[in-house]
Amino acid sequence: MTAEHDTELFERACRVIPGGVSSPVRAWGPVGGTPRFLRSASGAWVTDESGRRLVDLIGSWGPAILGHTHPEVVAAVREAAGRALSFGAPTAAEVDLAELICARVAPVEQVRFVSTGTEATMTAIRLARAATGRDLLVKFAGCYHGHSDSLLVAAGSGLATAGRPSSAGVPDAIAALTLVVPYNDVDALEALFAERGDQIAAVITEPAPANMGVIVPDAGFNAAIRRITAAHGALMIADEVLTGFRCSFTGEWGREQQAGESWVPDLFTFGKVVGGGMPLAALGGPRDLMELLAPVGPVYQAGTLSGNPLATAAGIATLSRVDEALMTTIDRVADSVTDSAHRALDAAGVPHRVQRVGSLFSIFFGESAGERPVRDFTDAQAQDLAAHKAFFHAVDDAGVLLPPSAFEAWFVSAAHDDQALEVIDRAMRAGAEAAARV
Ligand code: PMP
Repeated sequence: MTAEHDTELFERACRVIPGGVSSPVRAWGPVGGTPRFLRSASGAWVTDESGRRLVDLIGSWGPAILGHTHPEVVAAVREAAGRALSFGAPTAAEVDLAELICARVAPVEQVRFVSTGTEATMTAIRLARAATGRDLLVKFAGCYHGHSDSLLVAAGSGLATAGRPSSAGVPDAIAALTLVVPYNDVDALEALFAERGDQIAAVITEPAPANMGVIVPDAGFNAAIRRITAAHGALMIADEVLTGFRCSFTGEWGREQQAGESWVPDLFTFGKVVGGGMPLAALGGPRDLMELLAPVGPVYQAGTLSGNPLATAAGIATLSRVDEALMTTIDRVADSVTDSAHRALDAAGVPHRVQRVGSLFSIFFGESAGERPVRDFTDAQAQDLAAHKAFFHAVDDAGVLLPPSAFEAWFVSAAHDDQALEVIDRAMRAGAEAAARV
């Protein structure tokens, strides 16, 4: 139940902002009701405009890995703000953050900072096209890589939520350059490359998809993408905007490396955690590719606020704390939340499946998910959205803020302490009972 205050604010918002929100998944469209307007946040908790405190499992959709308003991150941003909000000139902090990323993700020799994940993937694609002299792009159905024209084809996240995975306003001529393959389907990828491999510039993938709910890549799937692209002279772009510095202290690439899988993409994209809650994202790769970017090379890319000093300060303060020990803490939090949810749903007899990669997870509702793993977008779309809706509202009433969509991951942080986990445990039981009544 949302407070009267939020309803009034939402009415005002809808008059001056389309749908009342600055980004579609913030609306409660798929679950119904008025979105909560948030005023402040600390650790695992958010406070809405009516003063209600809730445990947050959205975490700004990924950046808040240390919890909200971590004192060291806030201090770093305050210190930077005292010096300048923006220069439009090179800064030492950009070099520090770039060095931090290169040191952590071994295949990355250079990075270019941008303000959003969308810009990072858009630029990576432009770079791949320039490097190969080819136009076609391959993506997987249900993966989301931001809202640039080429990538709004069979996309997950807010498009999946809205039940129309492509956008109006994207010319057919542009959409035709993006070829779509089902996730986890090596045969389909092989077949596509057999037919058009010499025209394909790149395959872009979420190495652990999290925008159609969380999908576990089959063992060897990322390595197969690498093998097939390399065989045909195409690039592999690992979009780690969401998984980077979350699935492991490097990301999904690093997690699979540790597990003995050996594949190295040509380009990485990062966002969310790397900006510590400020607008910052990056693309990275080997020097020879990255130096195709202007001003060294012919691929143009730019940004007034790119490498903004507040954002780089937040990124450095956050990444410096993201280490193996922090990952162990977050994994334990994920264990606790998934155990609570699974136990409660089982006890209430609600068919479901928890899918998880590192600390990243989501819950799929419905008979089909209960019976077998959700491996691709078609499986994900077979979810029981009515059960999710009932679950969402009961969990919200019990004081826990979940993503208002069945197609999104839940985001935990290192600040989800025992008190927060107890509230979550109670809320999961309330949610499960509500879902069982559907
Ligand atoms: N790639 C992935 C994998 C994402 O999850 C997102 C955003 N959720 C993006 C790209 C786009 O990032 P942004 O919203 O910062 O443009």
